[in-house]
Amino acid sequence: MAANAVNDLPGTYEYVEGWGMAVGGLARVVRPRSVEEIRAVFARARAERVPLALRGTGNSYGDASCSAGGVVVDVSRMNRILAFDAATGIATCEPGVTIEQLWKHILPQGFWPKVVSGTAFPTLAGAAAMNIHGKNNFKVGTLGDQILSFDLVLPSGELRTCTRAENADLFHAAIGGFGMLGCFSRIELRTHRVHSGELEVRAFANRNLREMMEFMESERGRADYLVGWIDMFGRGAALGRGLVHWARYLEPGEDPDPARTLALAHQMLPPRVAGVFPKSELWRVMRFLCNDPGMRCVNFAKYVSGRLEAMGPPRRWRHAEFAFLLDFVPNWKWAYGRQERRGLIQHQLFLPQETALAAYTEVLSLNQRRGFVPYLGVFKRHRPDPFWMTHAVDGWSLAQDYKVTPSNREELWRHCHAVSRIAADAGGRFYFAKDAVLRPEDMLRSYPPERVQAFLKLKRELDPDGLLQTDLWRRVFAPVAADPGHG
Ligand SMILES: Cc1cc2nc3c(=O)[nH]c(=O)nc-3n(C[C@H](O)[C@H](O)[C@H](O)COP(=O)(O)OP(=O)(O)OC[C@H]3O[C@@H](n4cnc5c(N)ncnc54)[C@H](O)[C@@H]3O)c2cc1C
Repeated sequence: MAANAVNDLPGTYEYVEGWGMAVGGLARVVRPRSVEEIRAVFARARAERVPLALRGTGNSYGDASCSAGGVVVDVSRMNRILAFDAATGIATCEPGVTIEQLWKHILPQGFWPKVVSGTAFPTLAGAAAMNIHGKNNFKVGTLGDQILSFDLVLPSGELRTCTRAENADLFHAAIGGFGMLGCFSRIELRTHRVHSGELEVRAFANRNLREMMEFMESERGRADYLVGWIDMFGRGAALGRGLVHWARYLEPGEDPDPARTLALAHQMLPPRVAGVFPKSELWRVMRFLCNDPGMRCVNFAKYVSGRLEAMGPPRRWRHAEFAFLLDFVPNWKWAYGRQERRGLIQHQLFLPQETALAAYTEVLSLNQRRGFVPYLGVFKRHRPDPFWMTHAVDGWSLAQDYKVTPSNREELWRHCHAVSRIAADAGGRFYFAKDAVLRPEDMLRSYPPERVQAFLKLKRELDPDGLLQTDLWRRVFAPVAADPGHG
């Protein structure tokens, strides 16, 4: 399909970018409000041979829900919670319901989503299409593991209901299928019973990556959540030093006043730092630190304060605070620069247990040698799942935030290709929600070939005309789909 006749579709022209702001382009944006409207947009686009990119709230860092010069179908207005059963914790939602809407609806009833990302703003459809993971991936799996059923509007307009038993292939391919097989229009998922609006959180400082991995591995059976922060500027014996936050749910009776802590008012953090400075303006201050010397100091200060925190007793954190801390600094990404071609990219490398330490050590050293030190590094433990294009492995992930400027852009992309090669050589995988740089050859080396071929075959069957396309698809998969011998 060619991106012509774009003007004939309803909607408005907008600049549609990845969350990291570094990639994007002008597109026509259509916002359906019902299954009928999705079908109508699909029918018109089929007739006019215009490809469509599905989009939630655009929280993927790269180009996964972008279509420069094309048409974007934004489902975020289909955002009703259709049902929630407080006896079972099962929620049924329209695709545009956000994680924030869901937790705010269920927490006062004593439930919390089983899997959330580090931000509460994604839609459930976007989260399902990427099969997102949380800080508890090692324990409960990915979002897909919590989904019981969904409805998918196929490119033909047919509505198909999928469960683990009914249309099982489509169930396992569309979850994590980055919006290439159809449009989620209803999602039914399990949530988790909680007995308090707070978690018990402990902090542990680690002198290097090996120590962090050994610690997280030893706590895997005890913690409900584990997440590592890494000072990416640490060198030599301190390479990969950082801080692990360990958390567990409270047992019944441990919280003396659950009615109070489960209330939404308790979950909100004050909008001002020290009661004075508005958090909404913090990004302006952060802007002055968003360079190598500034970030070296910030990371060092965080490491030192982390060591002090680790000496203290366990603390109680609100669920929202622990899960979405960054959301409490509105628009922090603007510190990276708001003009076109600036911003940040995140590159998240998933590596199997056996090769992880050596490969991450190589990546951290290469970052420093090449002068591309990420300003934020986040480390997690994962476990495999049955979804066809999943990123999760029995191993680890390191998410790295790199600053993008017009002058470092080309060299940074080359650097990320070198990093991707190290990960692919080590049997690793990448995450399409966090990608702007992956090349088809690296994808082909990292995903099981039979999975990729099965996925492309299903895509050809369900979408023979290539109705659903994004910039990510055109960059990474279209060359492989067009030439199966690619790579
Ligand atoms: C600060 C921050 C922290 C994050 N932390 C994490 C984390 O801890 N773990 C994690 O896994 N991810 C994390 N993410 C990534 C984020 O959770 C995913 O990118 C998620 O997919 C975003 O959802 P969205 O609604 O914004 O979807 P979009 O980014 O708009 O789209 C994502 C994908 O979903 C597809 N899609 C959208 N709607 C539909 C639909 N109705 N049917 C079918 N496909 C559709 C799109 O085509 C695209 O491929 C984080 C992102 C940010 C910005």
